[in-house]
Amino acid sequence: MDEIIWKTIFMVIWIGSGIVRSPHMKKYKKTEKINSKKTSREKFLCFLAAIGMMIVPMVYVFTPWLNSFNMGLPDWARWIGAIVFGLSMVLFWWVHKTLGKNWSPVLEIRKDHKLITEGPYNYVRHPMYTQIWIWMLCQGLVLSNWAVGIVGIVTWSILYIVRLPEEERMMIEQFDQEYKDYMNTTKKIIPGVY
Ligand code: SAH
Repeated sequence: MDEIIWKTIFMVIWIGSGIVRSPHMKKYKKTEKINSKKTSREKFLCFLAAIGMMIVPMVYVFTPWLNSFNMGLPDWARWIGAIVFGLSMVLFWWVHKTLGKNWSPVLEIRKDHKLITEGPYNYVRHPMYTQIWIWMLCQGLVLSNWAVGIVGIVTWSILYIVRLPEEERMMIEQFDQEYKDYMNTTKKIIPGVY
């Protein structure tokens, strides 16, 4: 299949993620925060994630500069990446819908923050991060490019490793025993496993 078709499939899913997120971003900007961990480290982690999720894939899609990193994958492998990535957007939508106004792009507790334990949060504590792992593992497959795949996985791994313990500390600070009990009954990102 022509490269332009793979790039189009990727862009449709990628823009879909923006459509899912944008109403939540608007609400996020309007609500009051009572505990913000918007430190320079958090901002740097968001910048790293933007490199892996936006900048490198867009450079590949819109310029020929990363073509020397092409993997030359067979179409069936690229289809697996595209289908799994596309289906994961259902999870992305479900997570945003369930978290509602408790969602924020950085570590923050809002006014009237509620601990969510239903929907996807009934299965794991960090379903949005589950979806982003799927995204990072799939984007290199769809675009069949080492640079897109490796930069995405490395930048996301750094954010995940640094942020997750910090996020759970913040949630314990806010919800104390309620969050500790929740931790005892759920795994982090893979139901029943991890
Ligand atoms: N780690 C979660 C949420 C990512 S968004 C996930 O992967 O699904 C990050 C924000 O979500 C944090 O600032 C925190 O305030 C909020 N948050 C995380 N878990 C939450 C929960 N169970 N209930 C309510 N808010 C939560």
